[in-house]
Amino acid sequence: MEPDYKSVMLSILDYDREKLQEVLRDDLGLEPFRANQIFRWIYKERVKTFELMTDITKSVRQKLAKSFSIFYPRVKLVNLSKDGTKKYMFELEDGECIESVLIKQPKRWTVCISTQVGCAMGCKFCKTATLGLKRNLEVHEIIGQVLAIKDDTQVDFYNIVFMGMGEPLHNLKNVLVALKILSDDYGLCFSERKLTVSTSGLVPAIQKFGNAKNRANLAVSLNATTDEVRNELMPINKKYPLKLLIETLRSYPLRGRQCITIEYVLLRGVNDSVADRRRLKKLLHNIPVKINLIPYNTNVELGFERPSREVLVEWQQDLCNSKFNTTIRWSKGNDVNAACGQLIGVSGIG
Ligand code: SAH
Ligand code: SF4
Repeated sequence: MEPDYKSVMLSILDYDREKLQEVLRDDLGLEPFRANQIFRWIYKERVKTFELMTDITKSVRQKLAKSFSIFYPRVKLVNLSKDGTKKYMFELEDGECIESVLIKQPKRWTVCISTQVGCAMGCKFCKTATLGLKRNLEVHEIIGQVLAIKDDTQVDFYNIVFMGMGEPLHNLKNVLVALKILSDDYGLCFSERKLTVSTSGLVPAIQKFGNAKNRANLAVSLNATTDEVRNELMPINKKYPLKLLIETLRSYPLRGRQCITIEYVLLRGVNDSVADRRRLKKLLHNIPVKINLIPYNTNVELGFERPSREVLVEWQQDLCNSKFNTTIRWSKGNDVNAACGQLIGVSGIG
C-alpha cells in the first residue's frame, strides 16, 4: 500500500536550530540547549534514533520519539560512472523519486542536490522539465540527500551545489532553512562559500535570497543573450526578461570577494555565435561574475546539439581575454545520465 504522506510523523530535520529551540520550548517545555544537543547527535554523530542520545534523560528521549522522526530519504539505487561520479536515486515517503550526484573533480568532490520533484520552469533543453512540477521537497528531503551520501561514502566532500532536479528559488523557504542547517556549526558545518544555489532567473526570489541573513553563492543560468532566444529556451524569461534580470544581478548584494556564477549552456546554432559572445560580454560588463560554460548534455528527444570542442575552447579563450574568469564545465557522469539537465528520477542505465 502507498504510504500516506500526510500522516507521516514530522521529521526533526525540518527545523533549523533556532526554530527547533522554539518548537521544543512550546511543545515539550524543553530548554534551548536541548536543540544544540539534538543537532550534535543528528548531524555530527549521525544517530538515527533518539534512544541513542545518551546525554538526554530517558523521559525526554521518549517524549521526542513520540513527537518526531529522524527520517530522511532512502537510497533506492546508486549508479557509478566510469569517471568516478556517483548518481543516487532516493525514494521519498510518497513514492516519488529524486536524484543527487556526487561528482569527482581533480581537487575536490562536489555534491549536487535536488530541491523539487520535477520542475515548473519548462526549459526546452532540460530533461527535468519534461516531468513538470510534482512538488517541492521538504527540508528533511533536501538535507537528507547530503546525510545519506555522507553515510554511503568515506569522501569528505567540499562543495554542495543546488543544481539537481528543480528550481531552488521556487522552493526558497525550504532552501533557506536547508542552507542554515548545512552551514550551522552544530549542523553540517559547511562554509557558506562552499554552498551554491543555481536559479533560472526568478527575479523577486533572487532579491529575497540576496537579502536573506544566511546566504550562499548565487549562480544564474543565463543561457542566451537576447530576449528572443531566451524566451524560446527558458519560458521564465517572458516574466522576467533579460534587462530586468541583469539589473537585478547588477544590484545584487555581494559580500567581500563573492561573485555571481553565470551558467551558459552552449547549444549549437542557437546561442553559440560570435555575436552572442559579444552581447554576453556587454550584458555582464562591470558585474562581478565568473562564467561557467556548459556543453549541452544530449537528451536525444529534446533536439539540440552541443557545439564542437573548438567552439567551446574559442568561447573560453575569448571571454578570458576580455578578463572574464571563465571555465568549461565538462560534464561528469554522462554514461549514467547524471550530468546537468539529465536528471529525471529514473535509473540512468538504460
Ligand atoms: N533549476 C536551476 C538548477 C538546476 S539546473 C537552474 O536552472 O539553474 C542546473 C544547470 O543545468 C542549469 O545551469 C541549466 O541551465 C543546466 N542544464 C539544464 N539542462 C542541461 C543540459 N541538457 N545540458 C547541460 N546543462 C543543462
Ligand atoms: Fe528547471 Fe533548471 Fe531544468 Fe530549467 S534548467 S527546467 S529551471 S531544472
